[in-house]
Amino acid sequence: MTNPLERLVEELRRLPGVGAKSARRLAYHLIEAEQEDVQRLVETIVAAKEATHRCSQCFNLSAQDPCEFCASSKRDKSMICVVETSRDVIAIERSGDYKGLYHVLEGALSPIDGVGVEDIRLKELMMRLQDDTVQEVIIATDPDVEGEATALYIARLLQPTGIKVTRIARGIPVGGDIEYADEVTLSGAVLHRQEMR
Ligand code: ZN
Repeated sequence: MTNPLERLVEELRRLPGVGAKSARRLAYHLIEAEQEDVQRLVETIVAAKEATHRCSQCFNLSAQDPCEFCASSKRDKSMICVVETSRDVIAIERSGDYKGLYHVLEGALSPIDGVGVEDIRLKELMMRLQDDTVQEVIIATDPDVEGEATALYIARLLQPTGIKVTRIARGIPVGGDIEYADEVTLSGAVLHRQEMR
């Protein structure tokens, strides 16, 4: 059996963006830290995990259901911005101009990875468009192969409904990630969105 410190390194390495070196640095930092600091970190992680759930309407991560966007009377309910992850919601919020609702797909279509139509929240999106409240669906999936395929699929799916479907404008580099786009770029991309046909 590996020793506890090595096991901690292995666990940390499983986190996104943490390579072997960073994992080791973090592990040693934690072992050398004060007991109470480590305790607080562990408790914070567990508390955040327990308190955060997906909104039953838009699937955004939130401590409340419906989430703060779905529950707000200040949001424009005639617009739904479709994104891949909850992190993208935060990114678009930070860009500041968008005041509509969201829909988190929890992924993007990717036949290679076995992610099909049933695996992302498309059925739920269609359900939300049943009444006449929503006038425009803004597709803000990533500008990579999966994100573009997903955008096209949604545009085709919505064509018979007559709901206006727009795609956020270029400016986010091809292959890029909405989550990491800077605020000015993202704000412009939402503002200059184009209708999909
Ligand atoms: Zn919500």
